[in-house]
Amino acid sequence: MRVAREARNTRVISKKLLTPNMVRLTLGGDDLENFPEGYEGGYIKVVVESTGTGIVSRSFTVREFDPEQLCLVIDMVAHGDHGPASRWAGQVRVNDEVNILGPGACKRLNQEADWFLLAGDMTALPAISVNLEILPENARGYAVLEVIDPGDQIELNAPKGLEVVWVRNDDPLRAPSPISDTVKNLVWLEGQASTWVAGEFDTSRSLRQYFRHERKIHRDFMYVSCYWKIGDTDEGMKVAKKNDSEAW
Ligand SMILES: Cc1cc2nc3c(=O)[nH]c(=O)nc-3n(C[C@H](O)[C@H](O)[C@H](O)COP(=O)(O)OP(=O)(O)OC[C@H]3O[C@@H](n4cnc5c(N)ncnc54)[C@H](O)[C@@H]3O)c2cc1C
Repeated sequence: MRVAREARNTRVISKKLLTPNMVRLTLGGDDLENFPEGYEGGYIKVVVESTGTGIVSRSFTVREFDPEQLCLVIDMVAHGDHGPASRWAGQVRVNDEVNILGPGACKRLNQEADWFLLAGDMTALPAISVNLEILPENARGYAVLEVIDPGDQIELNAPKGLEVVWVRNDDPLRAPSPISDTVKNLVWLEGQASTWVAGEFDTSRSLRQYFRHERKIHRDFMYVSCYWKIGDTDEGMKVAKKNDSEAW
């Protein structure tokens, strides 16, 4: 996954608890003047300090970008102090400076299909929200969404024929996530499916295998990505992905 490494210096212009386990940051500043439009659902990298390694960057989805107001919204899962980005999100204040890189590619759902299946945990909620918003009104299928707390169920702008299935996992660090079994137990619809999945490494891996081997979904209709890995930093996840026998 390559990211255009254009660096921009921004400031936090607002910070709020969107839901019990999700922090919404709005970033602003003149450096966003040349931020490209149409990258909602793509990602930026937020540069944060890390004890030990100095500076690291972590990926977060562009939830909204307003080219007139020059502000960009990201929603970050508050998963405690054990990751530099999560720690930073807990401590950052309005007016603090933030360096960002990107944006990186938007991997959107292939819309040339008969029905759609989206799934993910809270890290994927921003990207899934964008994908649901741009589906045609008559789209049908499912969105299987894992939240830590019922209060994390955000309002979605999804087509009426798309069933939203919320699953609860109050400890995302305890594998397996209920997402894979929930997806595998769905009534498989007729016609060409288009799938979009992101979240924890093992869950995404298991769904990738399911779609590829059991449902025979062609890769043109399948986007499955890992956004984080239990027990590994972002850097560790990338190594695991590279060394995985199952191609990503
Ligand atoms: C393209 C892309 C888009 C993404 N978009 C978003 C987004 O919009 N919002 C968002 O919140 N995340 C998003 N992520 C995931 C985010 O980048 C990772 O969760 C990242 O690991 C967080 O960095 P960190 O410094 O907090 O933790 P790291 O230093 O990477 O990891 C430290 C520890 O925290 C654990 N950890 C990491 N993430 C989580 C988590 N979510 N829950 C529980 N434990 C965790 C790890 O297992 C590890 O033990 C995205 C990832 C990608 C690749």
